[in-house]
Amino acid sequence: MEWLSDEQRFSAIEENLKIINEEIAEAAIKSGRTPNDVNLMAVTKTVESRFINHAINNGVKLIGENKVQELLLKEPELNLESCRAHLIGHLQSNKVKKIVGKVDTVQSVDTVSIAKEIGKRSLDAGVITKILLEVNVGNEDSKFGFSGDELFERACEISEIQGITIDGLMCVAPILEKESEIRAVFSNMHRMFIDIGAKNVDNVNMNILSMGMSGDYKYAILEGANLVRVGSAIFGMRIYR
Ligand SMILES: *Cc1c(COP(=O)(O)O)cnc(C)c1O
Repeated sequence: MEWLSDEQRFSAIEENLKIINEEIAEAAIKSGRTPNDVNLMAVTKTVESRFINHAINNGVKLIGENKVQELLLKEPELNLESCRAHLIGHLQSNKVKKIVGKVDTVQSVDTVSIAKEIGKRSLDAGVITKILLEVNVGNEDSKFGFSGDELFERACEISEIQGITIDGLMCVAPILEKESEIRAVFSNMHRMFIDIGAKNVDNVNMNILSMGMSGDYKYAILEGANLVRVGSAIFGMRIYR
């Protein structure tokens, strides 16, 4: 949407949000839930603050950024009274101190050591940070996250750490051609979410199942996602500079 005027981009964002909210509602109902059971996150990486604020003014209650630096740069310009922010990208330990207290949840916790660092810095800051455990559900070398095999054991270790609380799971699904293959991946995530929740471990809450992006959020909802992370379908193609 780079070639469009700001006015045109504002109206495209409104139109896109309308369509996405309708599709979320439809998929939620198909999956036996209500539209309110599924939350939309607007993923705002590379998007300028005025467009993010426009999305917020049109009902977006949750945004996600991948990079600490980008989040900190935009944060003063954002209208966050009615909107929360999550970190959704891989976090390096030297950046933890900067982000703690600035985001409600870190969705991309992919090692025990980063969880420890978030815990330590949260205690220092006098806050509790919610975290999601990132699952490398396709076992891809290129992706961060715990493997399904180790997930429960790592969740138990992390549950002992002060200053953080586990709030659910997130994944970035592999790119697959067939609907049945994509849905099988999401269904596998949902099974882990249910299984771990059923174990009733202290400090391991399975409240949020964060999966599905612009290309596949409908399938994710049909398989049980309650938070979808949508970027380009709201804001248009990203332009990296
Ligand atoms: C960029 C990103 C998204 C959104 O991707 P779109 O395909 O633009 O919807 C979701 N989750 C993560 C972790 C991302 O990095």
